[in-house]
Amino acid sequence: MTFKDLGLSAALVKAVEEKGYTKPSPIQEKAIPFILEGKDILASAQTGTGKTAGFTLPVLHYLADTKHPKYRPLRALVLTPTRELAAQVYDNIREYSKYVNIKSAVVFGGVKAKPQIATLKNGVDILVATPGRLLDLHDQKAVSFKRIDVLILDEADRMLDMGFVRDINKIISFMPEKRQNLLFSATFSNDIKKLASGILKNPVSVETAPQNSTAKKVTHQVYKVDKKKKTEFTIKLIKDNNWTQVLVFTRTKHGANKLTEKLIKAGVSAAAIHGNKSQGARTKALKSFKDNSIKILVATDIAARGLDIPLLPHVINYELPNIPEDYVHRIGRTGRAGAAGEAISLVCSEEVEYQSEIEKLLNEKLNSSIIAGFEPTDTAPPKRAATQSKGSFGKKKKPGSSKVSNGSKPKNKPHFKANKTSGSNSGRGRTSAPKKKRF
Ligand code: ADP
Ligand code: MG
Repeated sequence: MTFKDLGLSAALVKAVEEKGYTKPSPIQEKAIPFILEGKDILASAQTGTGKTAGFTLPVLHYLADTKHPKYRPLRALVLTPTRELAAQVYDNIREYSKYVNIKSAVVFGGVKAKPQIATLKNGVDILVATPGRLLDLHDQKAVSFKRIDVLILDEADRMLDMGFVRDINKIISFMPEKRQNLLFSATFSNDIKKLASGILKNPVSVETAPQNSTAKKVTHQVYKVDKKKKTEFTIKLIKDNNWTQVLVFTRTKHGANKLTEKLIKAGVSAAAIHGNKSQGARTKALKSFKDNSIKILVATDIAARGLDIPLLPHVINYELPNIPEDYVHRIGRTGRAGAAGEAISLVCSEEVEYQSEIEKLLNEKLNSSIIAGFEPTDTAPPKRAATQSKGSFGKKKKPGSSKVSNGSKPKNKPHFKANKTSGSNSGRGRTSAPKKKRF
């Protein structure tokens, strides 16, 4: 199957070939023909499987293939939960639409509205936006939704988590009844299904099984370490392994700032990305990370969601998330497009329940070790993990709904030269007593 076989125009095929895509990914293969037929879609696939091109290409095909009304009204709208994701989807649209006569733009908050208003005034065919700023611009009559033909919700699950439902519904209320709706999500929760049933009309459900050609090869490694030793441990891990591109997750914005400062002090270039940073700082941090001018990006869950950082080899969970699904999203940042990746988690005594909730969700024990010199001594009791649906603590997850590791399982490589003090092959998911002290 090729992109041409899917019915996409030569101009679009040329652009994706220039991006180095040789064939459509499974979700693209499944979704694109239905979207070209004008059907509503409810699509779910793991992160990193090419959902963006999955909706962008057929929509661009449609926009280029149909006559523009004389004045260029907005005909397609992509809503995303975060500014970074909006910027990234827009970058993709620009690349894919290189050889077609389509005007695209992006609007999000945290930056001046004036240039956005000017861009919109010139006429835009496809707009990528975060809900809040878009509504502001609509209030100011800078944009109209009256001629929208296609509405796309990207990362719909995160939009729900971030409380955008009312904004989304408000935006939709200004649109014509007759339009195509595409909803993309990494997971299919009941809440997503509810949202979908209010928006989509006779949708085709498109799901790709976890076992597919772009399946991730991710190894999971837990290091048991005291809370107060985590920073030192992180620095050692990065330095000893000479890692040059690592995404580190912390649970709080404050924690992200503190760790970033300490990394920089230790001579490791780093920047933080989270909701309290100005948009300028967020954009700069992401850019520096992508172009390798800094080694470490320290992020909170929301800031990192949906971002495509190509071929990211390592993700470190400085703290485990208390929502097990967030672990799945975090490690979606590694092992992208079939490349191998490593997810390393530093787990202190307070986090052991978070770990077991994650293991339940993945249906897999995480390989767990202790490093000499960092033997845990903490006795603080475990905190309880949360579940995503509020008020349903301890509710059992649908098995396999967020599976991330599959296919042939890669082996864990040691991160420290012969100084790992507990084995990795035997006793999976258990820690044994240290044998030798090396550092
Ligand atoms: P998702 O939205 O599913 O998380 P993205 O759309 O961000 O995934 O795509 C992940 C990465 O895969 C991007 O770097 C993108 O350029 C790349 N990609 C997308 N489609 C293909 C393809 N058909 N072949 C190769 N790489 C692809
Ligand atoms: Mg995506």
